[in-house]
Amino acid sequence: MRAICLDQNGVRFQSEHPSPIPLSGEVLVDVIAAGICETDLQLAQGYMGFSGVLGHEFVGMATSGPFAGARVVGEINCNCRQCLRCQSGLGNHCAHRTVVGIHEHDGAFADQVAIPQASLHRVPDSVSDDQAVLIEPLAAALQIQQQIELAKIQKAIVLGDGRLANLCAQAISQQVKNIQVVGKHELKLARFRSLGIKTTQLSDLVCEKEFDLVVDCTGSVTGLPLALQLVRPRGTVVMKTTVAANHEVSLAPIVIDEISVVGSRCGPFGLAIESLQAGRFDLSNLVTHRFTLEEATQAFHTAVDPSAFKVVFDVARSSDI
Ligand SMILES: [Zn+2]
Ligand SMILES: [Zn+2]
Repeated sequence: MRAICLDQNGVRFQSEHPSPIPLSGEVLVDVIAAGICETDLQLAQGYMGFSGVLGHEFVGMATSGPFAGARVVGEINCNCRQCLRCQSGLGNHCAHRTVVGIHEHDGAFADQVAIPQASLHRVPDSVSDDQAVLIEPLAAALQIQQQIELAKIQKAIVLGDGRLANLCAQAISQQVKNIQVVGKHELKLARFRSLGIKTTQLSDLVCEKEFDLVVDCTGSVTGLPLALQLVRPRGTVVMKTTVAANHEVSLAPIVIDEISVVGSRCGPFGLAIESLQAGRFDLSNLVTHRFTLEEATQAFHTAVDPSAFKVVFDVARSSDI
């Protein structure tokens, strides 16, 4: 099958990659479309030391099991379902887990991907393929409200103007009216304003410790130090993005200002699908570029370009096998 693989030589397209062999409990999914995310860009720079087929944001067609023939999306953590963490509902933190396209599990930038049956969710007909590709990051954005009581937040700021920032800002703005987004790219910031969300250019930002909640979606080591300049004493910083580079930041403000720093990763797929069905998120026009799997190099170059928003591989459309 066709696949986009990462190894020590970087990201490259392979026309004859072996098809995945499903483990017990796994289902083969014919991939329809898959999106490039910031994590993929970080993996390509060495984050997690991953090698294998990339891609964890996808929609596809299940080939067997109860969802056979139906469009599905898949959660990315493949856990053991037996350890204490799994049994206490913390399967996303299973010490034995693999993670689709991120850690010891081949991903979805390919004609087929093997996903545990238990991780699959059926995609309702009213949700388009483009929207479905964004269910995984939307679930991650909705994880914030599982961890923080948003009703208590008066003033929030999201750092970053990219894909995940957009979904996080939309999620938070449903409960926090005083919210703004700070970023560097005028084109991207305009997308937030069209959603009714206030924006500030990074160069115009006045750093005062006035925000109850700061959400770092920068995908950069500069995010956390900036967040610590903006969060009020006893406020909360949520870190949504992972970066390959090491942070060099003074942690003293966390102690002095008694800041809560909350790491936040994967979220509830069920709620994301329900929110899309209810029309609570505007995901229109988020997909700006489409490529075939063969165009992997060009697609990864485009994904780091500030003019691009969501870059998607149309896998089924380009398939000739
Ligand atoms: Zn992702
Ligand atoms: Zn486990």
